[in-house]
Parts: sequence; C-alpha cells; structure tokens
Amino acid sequence: MGVVRKTKSVNTMLQAFEQCDTAISTVSLVERFKGHMNKTTVYRILDRLETEGTLHSFIGKDGLRWYAISHCSHTNPTDIHPHFQCSECGKTECLPISISIPEVYKYNVESAALLLTGKCKNCIS
Ligand SMILES: [Zn+2]
Ligand SMILES: [Zn+2]
Repeated sequence: MGVVRKTKSVNTMLQAFEQCDTAISTVSLVERFKGHMNKTTVYRILDRLETEGTLHSFIGKDGLRWYAISHCSHTNPTDIHPHFQCSECGKTECLPISISIPEVYKYNVESAALLLTGKCKNCIS
C-alpha cells in the first residue's frame, strides 16, 4: 500500500471495484469512466494498481482483460484461484477456492491461469 498515489482518479477506480464483488473488464471500465478519464489513464491506473497488488487481472473467454480486487487469501504466489465467467449473463468473478500450481520436473512454473465457464448461480434457476 502507498505505492500508488491516491489521486481522485485512482480512488474513483477503487470505488468501482469495492462496490461490486465481481470482476470488471477493461472495456466496461473505459466505458464507465468516459468523460472522467481517457482510455490511457484507465489503463495506466489499472496497471499501477495491479503492480501494487490491489488488483489482479486475467483474460476472459473473449480475450478481454478483466480486473478484480485482490484479497489477502490470494496473495500466495504458489496458489492460484480460478475465475468463473457465466456464458448466460457474462458475470465474471473470482472463485473462493485455491489451486496449487503443479510442480513440473525441470520446469520453473511461475504462474497459471484457470478460467471456468458455465452458468452462474443466478442463471441456473
Ligand atoms: Zn449468469
Ligand atoms: Zn481473481
């Protein structure tokens, strides 16, 4: 904490994430802050917040980058949590489980990403 200067734009961005417990795509963030900050600023802030560890990002099934707020339980670098993308409503979120990155002989695996798709709890019923 404290690496990112808490400018008004940064706070506005963080509020968007704190108000919703799902991931937000860069496309919708750019759309949401249109008129407040330009695309370059949105990308720059997201980049800084990710470097700082406040946010983490992943690629969704449509190739879009999604950002979600990081929680303490997700900070262990050898543990990853999968992300879920609903094919019905598009809701995309972090799943509260962790998966250990497998050890592969003679390889130094540093990261892994797992995207699960299907129907979310709202769309099943
Ligand atoms: Zn859904
Ligand atoms: Zn996540």
